[in-house]
Amino acid sequence: MGAEKAYDLFIIGAGPGGYTAALLGARKGLRVGIAEGSDCGGTCTNRGCIPAKSYIESINLLAHMKNASRFGIDPVAASVSLENLQRRKTRIVGRLVKGIEHLLSRSGVDLFRGSARFEGEKTIRIDDRFIHASSIIIATGSRPKRPTLFELPGMLTSDEVFDLRQAPGSMIIVGGGVIGMEMAHIFSNLGAEVTVIEALERVLSTEDEEVSKSLVSLYRKVRFMTSARVAAAGKDPEFVLTVDNPAGRETLRAASLLLCIGREPSLPAGLVHLGIALTPSGGIQTDGSMCTSLPGVYAVGDVTGEHMYAYVASREAEVAVAHITGDAARTMDYSVVPSVVFTHPEIASVGRKPGGRDTTGMRKGTFPVSALGRARTMEESEGFATITCDPDGILERVTIMAPHATELIAWATLAVERRLHVEEFLRPSYPHPTMAELLKEAAEDVLGLSINKP
Ligand SMILES: Cc1cc2nc3c(=O)[nH]c(=O)nc-3n(C[C@H](O)[C@H](O)[C@H](O)COP(=O)(O)OP(=O)(O)OC[C@H]3O[C@@H](n4cnc5c(N)ncnc54)[C@H](O)[C@@H]3O)c2cc1C
Repeated sequence: MGAEKAYDLFIIGAGPGGYTAALLGARKGLRVGIAEGSDCGGTCTNRGCIPAKSYIESINLLAHMKNASRFGIDPVAASVSLENLQRRKTRIVGRLVKGIEHLLSRSGVDLFRGSARFEGEKTIRIDDRFIHASSIIIATGSRPKRPTLFELPGMLTSDEVFDLRQAPGSMIIVGGGVIGMEMAHIFSNLGAEVTVIEALERVLSTEDEEVSKSLVSLYRKVRFMTSARVAAAGKDPEFVLTVDNPAGRETLRAASLLLCIGREPSLPAGLVHLGIALTPSGGIQTDGSMCTSLPGVYAVGDVTGEHMYAYVASREAEVAVAHITGDAARTMDYSVVPSVVFTHPEIASVGRKPGGRDTTGMRKGTFPVSALGRARTMEESEGFATITCDPDGILERVTIMAPHATELIAWATLAVERRLHVEEFLRPSYPHPTMAELLKEAAEDVLGLSINKP
């Protein structure tokens, strides 16, 4: 047997869930160790949120430059190379990974490089090192789904797409969810002819129907096939997909194939043998305190198979560490988790969707981006905000499709979480001219008081 070590808390996986738990545990005075089989920062930092947003920021700047004359600026020649975007992404990611490593080491957290497996309920093995811990947090994340139908050489998922050095001339994206739509935004603006294939009736099916419809109408360069299923996939050397859709069977060809059909939890080896309870989707089942069915073992983040967002993973980590350190009152509340999509315009929402509920007496207000002074100074006119209140005027749901929607949603989330009345939401002064006024106007419209609504 190799070296043995003991910890109060040991964490497997140093993504947003894992490293947050490690830092918080150390701050609470626990002796903490963490194992990471790849790079600190996990999917989010290395192959997810940060790479995607780094590309999108460049793409948006390019669009601005192409639009320069509308801002009264003589147009300049603007072009983009994927290799340069990739280099920029690598620089940004490298800095963030170093930052996380530094925070862990400064907090006295022992970082174990290597893949961790369970040898017993409280025993972890990394190569020839054995760890015993009073509490364990599993934060091993998720990986892209890759059905065998698509196992073709050169097929891409989000794990590989950020390594591309040359933009393809054409791309088929299978899956029109959040990741698929962000990829469509990136690659259509890089000049690829993009087709999105979505099995459901509409893309972005987790957002309001109006949002899906507006986005599709704005992305004129992208071809969308909805209610469509891939029946066969091959390569000759182009990718060739046979797609069944309501109009019949069609053959599509493209230089590149990108699968964005969802992610599956990544369980550490040895865990299933211990009899841990799993959800129907194969994630680790947890209660509100992030406890699994094994005593003293917690799970946070994508490995639970639900709410696959980095900010949910880190919030779950806070709850798990609170429970471990004696605060059992703190539990997860998923009812006010905002969603964000970094398309153009950006999309964000928070609160319960009306689906299936009695909506009698619900009050709705909307305001278009086109009528907002600040948006006009930005040469932006597409999008809207919608605020839905219950019959008593309490904010239930906010949907924003607008520039900076992903920032504005934080303010709306606080209001929905605090169950503010629409009049309370309107009490503070909203600075002018700002995009925040979009929310003010939509809230005033709930009360029939918006004087600026066209
Ligand atoms: C393209 C894309 C864009 C995204 N954009 C956003 C966004 O804008 N906003 C947002 O909130 N979320 C976004 N996400 C989702 C976000 O990346 C995930 O929800 C988040 O990374 C989950 O964090 P986690 O800590 O649960 O897991 P991960 O970040 O996946 O980290 C898990 C870590 O565990 C390690 N690991 C796994 N098994 C072992 C083992 N046995 N031993 C040791 N280490 C192990 C892995 O190497 C990994 O580093 C995006 C995802 C993708 C793919």
